[in-house]
Amino acid sequence: MNIKVEITRKKIKNIILKVTPDGKVLLSAPMRVPESYLKDFINQKEDWILKKLDEIKNRRKKEITYENGDEIIFLGEKKYLEIINSSFEKVVVKGEKLYIYCLENSTTKDRERIFKNWLKIEITEILRSMTYRLGKMIGYLPNEIRIRDMKTRWGSCISGKKVITYNLQLAFQPLPLIEYIVLHELAHIPFPNHQKEFWNFVEKFIPDWKERRKQLKGK
Ligand SMILES: [Zn+2]
Repeated sequence: MNIKVEITRKKIKNIILKVTPDGKVLLSAPMRVPESYLKDFINQKEDWILKKLDEIKNRRKKEITYENGDEIIFLGEKKYLEIINSSFEKVVVKGEKLYIYCLENSTTKDRERIFKNWLKIEITEILRSMTYRLGKMIGYLPNEIRIRDMKTRWGSCISGKKVITYNLQLAFQPLPLIEYIVLHELAHIPFPNHQKEFWNFVEKFIPDWKERRKQLKGK
């Protein structure tokens, strides 16, 4: 396996293997476990490591050039772009393909505009229905939902006004991570700050919220 694994010896009982959000593979091992054992252990975990690294790579946003064969991540899944000349403009996702229908002689800018408009409509619909579904479940619904392209956060909530704003960039994330953000923002309606009660409330509905949050930070 050509993966670099950083091994640290610690006073622990079990071997701990993890992949950090920035793609480092770290292994903590008890003092006395032989090197050969660790090698076998890593080999056995190869599939798992590769899967994790792949997930991280998928989540990193790539530049899109809007040419045939471009990789586009949509809801955490890799899609391949295909440009179709057409008399109308639309986007269709089917299996591993993402089709952009556009006029012949379309420029990169045209394709980008068609894609981004579509992306905004799609993610808005997903966020709206998810917010409604989860909001009903936990007993708190917002008065208003906004979608913006934001640089530093996935979402925000003005508790007093019950206004939730989501980041448009969520469209690139897998659904379970989007779900965590939606629940997180909804939980701010009863709990404006990140106090203990807030996290207890989140955990009631998403027990693995820590794992999901960690994955989001690896953006
Ligand atoms: Zn928060």
